[in-house]
Amino acid sequence: MDFLVLFLLYLALVLLGFVMICVGSKTHYLQGLISRGAQIFSYIIPECLQRAMLRVLHYLFHTRNYTFVILHLILQGVVYTEYTWEIFGLCQQLEFSLYYLFLPYLLLIVNLVFFTLSCVTDPGTITKANELLFLQVYEFDEVMFPKNVRCPTCDLRKPARSKHCSVCNRCVHRFDHHCVWVNNCVGAWNTRYFLSYLLTLTASAATMAVVSTVFLVRLVVMSDVYLQTYVDDLGHLQVVDTVFLVQYLFLTFPRIVFLVGFVVVLSLLLGGYLCFCLYLAAINQTANEWRRGSRAWCQHCPHMARPPAAEPQAYRNIHSHGLWSNLREIFLPATARYERKKK
Ligand SMILES: [Zn+2]
Ligand SMILES: [Zn+2]
Repeated sequence: MDFLVLFLLYLALVLLGFVMICVGSKTHYLQGLISRGAQIFSYIIPECLQRAMLRVLHYLFHTRNYTFVILHLILQGVVYTEYTWEIFGLCQQLEFSLYYLFLPYLLLIVNLVFFTLSCVTDPGTITKANELLFLQVYEFDEVMFPKNVRCPTCDLRKPARSKHCSVCNRCVHRFDHHCVWVNNCVGAWNTRYFLSYLLTLTASAATMAVVSTVFLVRLVVMSDVYLQTYVDDLGHLQVVDTVFLVQYLFLTFPRIVFLVGFVVVLSLLLGGYLCFCLYLAAINQTANEWRRGSRAWCQHCPHMARPPAAEPQAYRNIHSHGLWSNLREIFLPATARYERKKK
């Protein structure tokens, strides 16, 4: 049973790692958590170590750097090496269809193209030259985006739906979020690449999870191991059950079982995040607006009630014009076409 605990611990760690990175990259929670933890353990952890930890976190999440881009490529490289090295050959021996086996590679190529595009495409940086053009694109709602507001850092008028990214130190049009995995902001001009990247990454993880799981199941069925019996620690004869089967597979193909665990957790996390992004795309809302909107909604909670005069105006999404129009806006941004013509 020890191995099962170990494997579950590994899955929990993978899950926790991804959640921590996602939370840390989008909010200040992680840093707050660490500094609060550091406060508690300040008697044990030397001050210089605490400062170093905060410096590392600041570097990772609040400056532009390639750490997560490299980590992303390493993880992808490790998963695909294991797939090529072990699973591909074994599946061929079990006469899996070649179309089926090559699908993860096809998805990898498409994914790397969109990954590169998400990294290098200008998300819609607002400059003195294009400021006026961007000011005309979206209506000001006077709640979340009031008219005549200047960015104190860039000294530019803020177009509706734009935001200053503190990591990149620039104002970005239709700002969604800053993504550490692509080391770039996601904005008006690269949301389409980011969504395609997310879609192909989820698809490649899910395909790999399906291929490896089908391989393991077929192996168990062919070997008839589930029809056999074994003698347990107390000397009793036992029929093979699921736990025994997982243990058997783990001892026979440890790397494949670890890979299956990793890609299954990854597919679920990415799938969930992709659904959220597609939902926002469908209703024409950015992650930034969604976050600020839900915070505004929270201010209306009864337990936080305040006098009516001080009540802020409720946020209402005025930019949605139907599903197809919303998707066209993301996949064919009008200002990008205008910029291209100008060049
Ligand atoms: Zn700015
Ligand atoms: Zn940014």
